Amino acid sequence: MSNGEKDKLGEKLHDVEAARENEWARKRDQELLEKMRHAKHDDEAARGHQPQPAICPECKQELVPNSDQRVGGMICPQRHGGWFGWDTVAKIMGDFAHTKK
Ligand SMILES: [Zn+2]
Repeated sequence: MSNGEKDKLGEKLHDVEAARENEWARKRDQELLEKMRHAKHDDEAARGHQPQPAICPECKQELVPNSDQRVGGMICPQRHGGWFGWDTVAKIMGDFAHTKK
């Protein structure tokens, strides 16, 4: 066996080892990703079970559903203010701009 052939064999063995390491690293990465994905899911599920109540920044009371069905949303029982979906707010602003003209 010449020196040249020995080197080639050594290179091949090195390639096999490198491939094995890559495979191991890939598997480990996949496992980590899987773990992270599961952790995120658990977090979302936990948050879904315990929705945060909307609180009035003035009196710290929990907001109550607005009885006016045309507007909806949640309002402070003391009438300090309310929380409305953006669609509703945009509509109110649109009506306001219209009546102003
Ligand atoms: Zn309030």
